[in-house]
This record gives sequence, structure tokens and C-alpha cells, in this order.
Amino acid sequence: MELAVESLKCIGCRICEYACNYHHDTDCSAIGASLMLHRAEKRDYFGMMVKREKDLLLARPEGPEVVPPGEQVEGAGASSKPILMRAPCDLCEDEDEPFCVKACPTGCLTMVES
Ligand code: SF4
Ligand code: SF4
Repeated sequence: MELAVESLKCIGCRICEYACNYHHDTDCSAIGASLMLHRAEKRDYFGMMVKREKDLLLARPEGPEVVPPGEQVEGAGASSKPILMRAPCDLCEDEDEPFCVKACPTGCLTMVES
């Protein structure tokens, strides 16, 4: 299974970041989340970066892109760097349901067969 992101459904609320951080740290913060909102300088443009075990998924409205570790994320600038230092997504393997999927109010995040 893997986490899929339908960016066009994202409203930029960042609840998923707090939910993921709670999974990792049981803390009310977004600093340790495996996923991070990616914004461009446009209104209503929201993407999501997900740090995975071996790469970074950059899911933007124009389509998903898989970025190899250490490679600069085009268009993400410095905002992509903090996520590279965090724990990768473990698909919430110890939880009944992935916290980010459960928390997202728009159904933007789902688990799909890989
Ligand atoms: S599935 Fe779990 S670990 Fe992965 S991004 Fe979502 S909340 Fe974080
Ligand atoms: S919780 Fe859902 S709608 Fe909100 S930022 Fe995350 S993916 Fe986007």
C-alpha cells in the first residue's frame, strides 16, 4: 500500500501535518510530520510533499512526481528542505487507519495498492 494525494481536493488546512506529527510524537505540532503542504505563489494552489522511505513524493495539481533523495525539488525552493530531515512515512503501520487519511476533511489523501 502507499499514500496517494489528489491535490485538486486539497484546501491547504494542514490538519494532515498535525495528525502525522501526532502519530510520530503524540505532540500537537507539525514539525515532525512526514508530509508537508507545498504552496506556490498562486491562490488555490496546494500540493503535498510526502517523505517516503526511499524518495520524496511531490504531489501537485499538475500531477505527482517522485524525487530521488537529495535532489532539489523544482519549484519548492527552500521549503522542501525541512521535510528531508524528518522521519519517513511508515504508513501508520501500528494504527487502525492512517492518521492523515482519517483527519483530512476533503478526502485528498487515500491509501492505494502500490
Ligand atoms: S500515513 Fe501516517 S506516517 Fe504516513 S504521512 Fe500519513 S500520518 Fe504520516
Ligand atoms: S488535511 Fe487534506 S485538505 Fe488539509 S492540507 Fe492535508 S491534504 Fe490538504
